[in-house]
Amino acid sequence: MYGDIPNTSVVVQKYGGTSVGSPERIRNVAARVARQYRAGWRRMAVVVSAMSGETNRLVALVRDVNPQASAKNYDMAVAAGEQVAVALLAAALEGEGVAAEPFLAWQLGIVTDEAHARARIRSIRRDKVEAAWAQGRIPIVAGFQGMTEDMEITTLGRGGSDTSAVALGVALDAAFCEINTDVDGVYTCDPRIVPAARLLEEMDYEVALEMASLGSKVLHPRCVELGAKYKLPIVVRNTFTTDDHQRTRVMTQTTEIESLAVSGVTLDKDVARVTVSGLGSGSVGISELFSVIAQRGINVDIIVHDKPGMKSEPGRLGFTVAKGDLSATVETIGQLAKKSAGSGTGASVRADTESGLAKVSVVGVGMRSYAGVAGKTFAALSDAGIQIHMISTSEIKISCVIAETDGAKACQVLHKAFFENQ
Ligand code: ADP
Ligand code: ASP
Ligand code: MG
Repeated sequence: MYGDIPNTSVVVQKYGGTSVGSPERIRNVAARVARQYRAGWRRMAVVVSAMSGETNRLVALVRDVNPQASAKNYDMAVAAGEQVAVALLAAALEGEGVAAEPFLAWQLGIVTDEAHARARIRSIRRDKVEAAWAQGRIPIVAGFQGMTEDMEITTLGRGGSDTSAVALGVALDAAFCEINTDVDGVYTCDPRIVPAARLLEEMDYEVALEMASLGSKVLHPRCVELGAKYKLPIVVRNTFTTDDHQRTRVMTQTTEIESLAVSGVTLDKDVARVTVSGLGSGSVGISELFSVIAQRGINVDIIVHDKPGMKSEPGRLGFTVAKGDLSATVETIGQLAKKSAGSGTGASVRADTESGLAKVSVVGVGMRSYAGVAGKTFAALSDAGIQIHMISTSEIKISCVIAETDGAKACQVLHKAFFENQ
């Protein structure tokens, strides 16, 4: 099944929400794992997500009870989906005649920091896994969850089971970590938006990280970060096929001699814009603004500064944040304006917000040495009548903020421009 890799190697497999989305699908995963067990793979660990839709249901439930619920209570509630999934998969494996042991994060010893709802893994103990293997059992581990040193339940952020799996792979010195999902691998664009998207057979961590961070949901960005840091190869493949050749390998050294200018197009719908007016001399300063926002733990993405330094019109600044951070951002700016007004400054500082936006990006390490990618991007969007609200570039990406309703069309025209006309 894994080519030349000997079956004495350690392998971590992760199954996502859709892969375990019904009793039948759970039995399908159990049959896959059992087949491999029978083929002699004894040092396997399996990480699972909650059944599809379950985490959304739990998040909505918490929000319904109290929209301001603390992150600690949120984590306790939303981590529950994975508890059910590990138990069901272990039960299905029992049905296959294969011994398995389900583990919640606290039982296994997945220790995180205290940043509830976006916790980072600090360490994972291997003794429980080793003990399970010694007894001929396959450990089935709850993804997405962790525990603090004080035994409080944490979660890693939405989509975080990929990160649980790669972190477990690192802790166990696995040969690789396999992410099993509902598509064949990582494509040049989300294949649900662009049916003509191509499967990328291999990609380096840098491109994978950029695509993941810019909205390509198939891999959680932090799992790619971890894979890169510890040089653990990540294989993305489809749970629903047995084809061993259709997959994406994310690794350090790809066989490509020269990188393509563009490797992929991504869409991030989790974008909201804040426009702050009244900044500048005698008022709230930009550094003060961003330091209070950072203290609140809010990540700011694209920043655009209009007419900086003009006396006739005070500075106006636009920036984007995740939709979930919008109300906290506005509240933070309001508090800052009030405090400054009290001290005789900042009375006119105002924050306006805009949602209904999305960010479309073109990504590729080859961009460093090819000219014309920006021009082609803007031309494709403009020919399609798509208005660009904000632009941000780096050496390996061009991002444009557009209306969310233009998101799918933008992906399609950019994909056509970079991949379908050659
Ligand atoms: P899982 O539940 O297995 O973790 P996710 O829903 O988190 O699966 O991620 C898989 C989905 O990611 C696919 O169904 C696909 O729609 C979406 N996706 C977005 N961008 C890409 C891409 N570039 N390549 C493949 N899938 C993508
Ligand atoms: N179940 C969690 C979520 O829906 C984690 C994951 O799927 O990776 O976000
Ligand atoms: Mg996922």
